[in-house]
Amino acid sequence: MKSEDNTVIDKKLVLKGYTLNELKEYFSSIDEKRFRGEQLFNWMYRHLADTYDEMDSVPKVLRVKLSETTGPINTLSLVTKTTSPQSGTTKFLFETLDGYKIESVVIPEENRTTLCLSTQVGCPLDCKFCATGLMGYKKNLSAGEIFDQYKLISKEYEKGTIKNIVYMGMGEPLINFEQTLKSLRIFAENVDTSIRLKRISVSTAGIAPKIIELADTGLRVKIAFSLHSCFDDIRSRLMPINEKYPLKENLRAIHYYAKKTHTRISFEYVMIDGINDREEDFFELVKICKSLPCKINVIPFNSLEHMNPTGFSAELKPTPKERIEAFVEALREQNIIVTVRFTQGDDIAAACGQLAYP
Ligand code: SAH
Repeated sequence: MKSEDNTVIDKKLVLKGYTLNELKEYFSSIDEKRFRGEQLFNWMYRHLADTYDEMDSVPKVLRVKLSETTGPINTLSLVTKTTSPQSGTTKFLFETLDGYKIESVVIPEENRTTLCLSTQVGCPLDCKFCATGLMGYKKNLSAGEIFDQYKLISKEYEKGTIKNIVYMGMGEPLINFEQTLKSLRIFAENVDTSIRLKRISVSTAGIAPKIIELADTGLRVKIAFSLHSCFDDIRSRLMPINEKYPLKENLRAIHYYAKKTHTRISFEYVMIDGINDREEDFFELVKICKSLPCKINVIPFNSLEHMNPTGFSAELKPTPKERIEAFVEALREQNIIVTVRFTQGDDIAAACGQLAYP
């Protein structure tokens, strides 16, 4: 089994992040019964155990052996927790076993509390409107570190409170594809959790071949595509990754995804003054939306001032509220489903695109 750097600590394998099959294989590789893999899966991902000691259906000798030969069960520790007095949005700051800081956000809404997970420390994509992009890329998170954000946070709430998960925190999930996929498989195999795959959204800046690969896994999670401009030249200025995977290629991948998984695509659209809120932007957006089952999530642009941006990033300003409302109204008149993500947590720098840690 291939293990990456971040799944080995002090030369010991970290089992958190292994899928059910990988755990069964692991136990067979150490001459134990394969069903021990199932037991470990349940303890780690269903009962959310913190130590081997609690796993009392596993024989004591095996528990001792595992605690001596493998890494810790928890791959993250909670550093701070900050709640916005305005909206109740809570930002959690975690530290990985190798000393990196990551953030996750809980957004409470009536009947549907949403958890926003990070998939990388920093991000390599350098989108000009995003604070995480400005901090640069540090490393990929392991599937264990992705899952443990859910684990440590869900323990702070009543069971079943967190119903939706969005992979929209720090990083680009489809660049850290292997570990993102493993974390999705863990949620999928977890019969007891209140998280259903159709309540998980993976947000991407547009890594076309990986969108197709994700469709072919059959996992049927939702895709949120960060569109932000329907014109390649503008989109490339905002999101340099568009040079590598232009709109046409991404739209083809998204059509494939929608058809293959029978899911509706969400387009995210951050409104930036004079950049993507003009008349021609509106008409092009309508054209794209009419070509497939989708909805648009309009996001007011959140300030990057706390990052002291320079260059093009410093020029970006939010579209004024009245113009956002008029844009949204006009889209609705075209029978397009639009939600406006009212900014939540900007007072604690936990809103979309504001996550960054030095
Ligand atoms: N890399 C993924 C997921 C992280 S970003 C992606 O690009 O989709 C999650 C969402 O927040 C994306 O739609 C992103 O474009 C948006 N976002 C980034 N910076 C923002 C900002 N300053 N204001 C509002 N939304 C922002």
